[in-house]
Amino acid sequence: MPQLTLFADPGSKSLGLSPTKKVSTSASSSTGSASAVSKRKAAFTKKGDEPNLWELHHIQEDMAVLNKGQVSGGKRPRSSSSADGRDEKMKGQPDRTAKRHEPEGGGVAGSKDIKKHKNAYEIKGKIANEEDSARVDADPPLNQLIRLMEKGWKEVEKGECVVYWMRMEDMRVEDNTALHKASERAKELGLPLIALYVLSPGDYKIHDRSARKIDFMLRNLNHLKTKLHDLNIPLHITSYPKRLSIPRKLVNETFPFLGANHIFVNIEYEVDELNRDIATVKLGREKGIDVRCFHDRLVVPPGRVKSQAGKPMSVFSPWQRAWAKLLEKEPQLLNLSPLPQANDAAIRQNQRFAKLFEDQIPDSLEGFECTDKETMAEVWPEGTERAKEVLDRFLHTKARKSQIQLTSPLNPGAEPSSKESRVQAYQTGRNLVDGDNSSRLSPYLVSGVISARMVLNEAKKLGKGGNLESGRDTGLGMWVQEVSWRDFYNHVMSTWPRVSMGRPFLEKFADVQWEVNEEHLQAWKDGKTGFPIVDAAMRACNKRGWMENRVRMVSASFLVKSLMLDWRLGEKYFMECFIDGDLAANNGGWQWVASTGTDPQPYFRIFNTLTQSEKCDPNGDYIRYWVPELRHLKGKAVHDPSHHMPLNEFKKLGYPAPIVDHKRSRERALFRYKNVGEKEP
Ligand SMILES: Cc1cc2nc3c(=O)[nH]c(=O)nc-3n(C[C@H](O)[C@H](O)[C@H](O)COP(=O)(O)OP(=O)(O)OC[C@H]3O[C@@H](n4cnc5c(N)ncnc54)[C@H](O)[C@@H]3O)c2cc1C
Repeated sequence: MPQLTLFADPGSKSLGLSPTKKVSTSASSSTGSASAVSKRKAAFTKKGDEPNLWELHHIQEDMAVLNKGQVSGGKRPRSSSSADGRDEKMKGQPDRTAKRHEPEGGGVAGSKDIKKHKNAYEIKGKIANEEDSARVDADPPLNQLIRLMEKGWKEVEKGECVVYWMRMEDMRVEDNTALHKASERAKELGLPLIALYVLSPGDYKIHDRSARKIDFMLRNLNHLKTKLHDLNIPLHITSYPKRLSIPRKLVNETFPFLGANHIFVNIEYEVDELNRDIATVKLGREKGIDVRCFHDRLVVPPGRVKSQAGKPMSVFSPWQRAWAKLLEKEPQLLNLSPLPQANDAAIRQNQRFAKLFEDQIPDSLEGFECTDKETMAEVWPEGTERAKEVLDRFLHTKARKSQIQLTSPLNPGAEPSSKESRVQAYQTGRNLVDGDNSSRLSPYLVSGVISARMVLNEAKKLGKGGNLESGRDTGLGMWVQEVSWRDFYNHVMSTWPRVSMGRPFLEKFADVQWEVNEEHLQAWKDGKTGFPIVDAAMRACNKRGWMENRVRMVSASFLVKSLMLDWRLGEKYFMECFIDGDLAANNGGWQWVASTGTDPQPYFRIFNTLTQSEKCDPNGDYIRYWVPELRHLKGKAVHDPSHHMPLNEFKKLGYPAPIVDHKRSRERALFRYKNVGEKEP
């Protein structure tokens, strides 16, 4: 039995909140009391229970919080590639027989100076030990869930309704697989369909969800509620602050309260969410409740794209070619699910269900107050209709310089063009940050406000002969490739779940020695490093909750290779700021930059911040907008003011001098990557 069933947990809350009320997030598992933690620990040692290793990791995390930094180191690692004879040998696995360097206190991997160094401690509890993560890789939770889906079904009683349990990435009614399947089943059984949303502040906290993303979720939920009500489908809202209690609470309380024995969900591919679903399916079966899980988030479900030898692939280009071939062979993968059918209006008089129509969606959640709510609502308007307009603009209108600003992507004045539309110009546009050159769809795709299938169907209409282009020779094809990166990183996360447990994909870089430097980390976060393009990007991130891909790479590379700060600190900060924060894409991006990921940038190829700046913002417009101290500078000076101006003039700008020397920091990074575990003499 999964350990999740064993935790003691007080009652759940069904929200009958007024829209202005906040929902408390006080009880996340990571901040539980000492007795709660030891209870959880004891639960694992109970005879006959098979411990779940990622949850064990979270216990370490709890213990770390309680003991302020005394995280258990775990046992000596074993090779994940040998764990189950997985098909693909992990590239870059360390030689297990070689003597390993114990990291010094200065590196985040060490534990000595944790109390002194906030930034080391910040991510300490988030890094699973190598042994635990290798075991999770040996039988990934997605495989376990799929095995469960394939066998062990029993007929269950009809019940009073069919439930669609909506997830954070499901924020739409159109082309929603589980919603459609639930609707079909409801019609077959002659039952009403109920939509359920479970707020889980504990999950949001432990997974570094930003206040902006939570606000976007709540705005979209409100929007969806109206759409569902139009179909006489109520949206029932429940909140479980203790995330690990969710399966038990649902099976013992919420589903019986609704009289539901048929539950339909779309799969979330993150480890914790998969473990939650495995537990819910198992518990449900014990209680005569049938929980069915569907692939929906991606165009091609994880595990479908394999090498010719049937092995999982970790290099993007061949993976992408196989992805495109599969779509050619099975074009039905792009088919959209029909809309759900309406319930009979009589449901509004039904004693059990009528009151569910009154469930309120809170304006905000405690601990996730969005301080720039109005700006976010303007810049990232909610709803599938808006997402479709954003897509339409990208496919059919020209880029505009004014979109550098903190402004709505749907502002009037976009000029239609078929030859010079943003997508047609994407080959060069994607690397520029001085306009709206990319689609800006990421917040919508991440939260599922629009599906990747919907997006690609529109792109297909523009392809030659109505085919889906995905080659690098056209802007359209290149953009489709970009969308496939989203599938790719989810495939990576589901196949090697350890990447989402704080581990580098390439374990050989696990002990790279990082600096611990509060001031540098803060300067990077605040956009005050003295490197204008990095500062512009970080200020855009702080104000807009979103950055263009090129500057995500540049600022991430600066943190890792120039400041030599642990990539996981940056990964966490992006998640805390972004409206489009997404574990798979963010982790994939950071591991690419840190040279630790699947198919990463080689460690010896280090971005030159200045060259990147001149290439992606040739006129300096982006810098001048986001870094107003530099708004009067002309020519090259805007990219590198301290080296283009007399010192006294530079001082008058009120802009910081560079906090590191590029050449020296480059040499430091090369040394530390080449000599893992060591610091330069
Ligand atoms: C360090 C770093 C962190 C990142 N963090 C995130 C994140 O948290 N969430 C996120 O959605 N993307 C992330 N990305 C990927 C990429 O930067 C964004 O998806 C993209 O900038 C969003 O802008 P857009 O919608 O205009 O993209 P477009 O260029 O228009 O691309 C269309 C869509 O393709 C997908 N896509 C494009 N590039 C990538 C990529 N490299 N990886 C995965 N999907 C991609 C996105 O869904 C995007 O919306 C990160 C990249 C880096 C280097």
